[in-house]
Amino acid sequence: MFETLQERLSGVLDKLRGRGSLSEADVSEAMREVRRALLEADVALDVVRDFIARVSEQAVGATVVKSVTPGQMVVKIVHDELVNTLGADNQPVSLAAAAPVPILMVGLQGSGKTTTTAKLAKRLQDREKKKVLMASLDTRRPAAMEQLAVLGTQVGVQTLPIVTGQSAVQIAQRALQAAKLGGYDVVMLDTAGRTTVDDELMAEAVEVKKVSNPHEVLLVADALTGQDAVTTARAFDKALGITGLALTRVDGDGRGGAALSMRAVTGKPIKLIGVGEKMDALEDFDPQRIAGRILGMGDIVALVERAREQIDQEQAARAAERMRKGQFDLNDLKSQLQQMQKMGGMAGVMGLLPGMGQIKKQLDAANIDEKVLKRQAAIIDSMTKAERKNPDVLKASRKKRVAAGSGTRVEDVNRLLKMHRQMADMMKMMGKGGRGGLAGLAGK
Ligand code: GDP
Repeated sequence: MFETLQERLSGVLDKLRGRGSLSEADVSEAMREVRRALLEADVALDVVRDFIARVSEQAVGATVVKSVTPGQMVVKIVHDELVNTLGADNQPVSLAAAAPVPILMVGLQGSGKTTTTAKLAKRLQDREKKKVLMASLDTRRPAAMEQLAVLGTQVGVQTLPIVTGQSAVQIAQRALQAAKLGGYDVVMLDTAGRTTVDDELMAEAVEVKKVSNPHEVLLVADALTGQDAVTTARAFDKALGITGLALTRVDGDGRGGAALSMRAVTGKPIKLIGVGEKMDALEDFDPQRIAGRILGMGDIVALVERAREQIDQEQAARAAERMRKGQFDLNDLKSQLQQMQKMGGMAGVMGLLPGMGQIKKQLDAANIDEKVLKRQAAIIDSMTKAERKNPDVLKASRKKRVAAGSGTRVEDVNRLLKMHRQMADMMKMMGKGGRGGLAGLAGK
């Protein structure tokens, strides 16, 4: 899966990852090569352009984290942008509707539609314990109806008995009726496929959609056809409105162009990928995992993530150390405020700290939320270095200046200073008693 693209990208990024420093020219040279690799992988031109622009912008402006090389940082940025391009959020097939939930399967002939219908039915039945009914609406190709019936027997999923002479719409209605009467949870409608998108095919699918009111309209598309798959998806979406895609033959796709372009070009999520001919060769589309496979540098991505966490922890530990010594100044308060914001608000963190009950009560009473945290940080930002180190110098005129600078009132400044004083006292007390404060939280 995606071997060719992976080889090309890792070739480019391998050259970067070991380097101690990177100039803007190094980055732009690397981006030229990444661009070429993506185009050769048959990724849509617009998607490539956006991708390169976003990565370049971040790579040049990135603050490099200690213990990580600039090259490793670039790998991480490329990885994150791959995830974004693939569609940052996982969007599994949804069954959140009244039973029997209708799922409409559409696509060109040979795309793997019937196989995917049976694979998905099996999965819903085996994994989610749903009672599933499948029906083939391909009235022009009796062989296709037979094929679904055979697959149904193979995977142990019921298929609607074949009645010759019925139209696709009539079969759909019969399937829905049978599913209702039979107490089925899901009814999967496998529509007819054609070799190309044509009006007749679409008109029939639109009619079927009207009568069945499907919860999901899944387009089955062949990854091996690259940009043609993307064009097909656009055509189906325009005529019919699809809710997502199942991309097949990803197991044989070395390039990945369809997978990488689909979300950005069509706006529709890939929900499933077919990774083989066997009936269990169907996976949820997971952008994180796919990006990992495409890049093949999971170790570096994890390394950079760990380094970032490490830095956060070191900052917290340093602040805690100063607190213990009674040196808790306003700079420390600010980094605490930022830490708290990251950790989901003051109240959450305070609840975790021993001896913090009292401060927490005060904060709760003051109704401290994220907006307040930001305002407090702004107040501290408006102070001079000396004021932050030694808040006692803040007398009336200085307070007025700080309030004006941060767009707050003198009362707000006073409140912040009072909070700082109380926290500093508390820290000192806890320091005497040994471990405490954020040091405990940081596991130091
Ligand atoms: P339909 O005409 O769209 O219904 O296509 P079929 O479901 O009959 O599939 C056509 C061929 O593609 C069959 O031989 C399937 O086994 C094969 N196929 C479908 N999905 C996949 C897949 O994800 N990987 C591989 N390798 N083969 C697949």
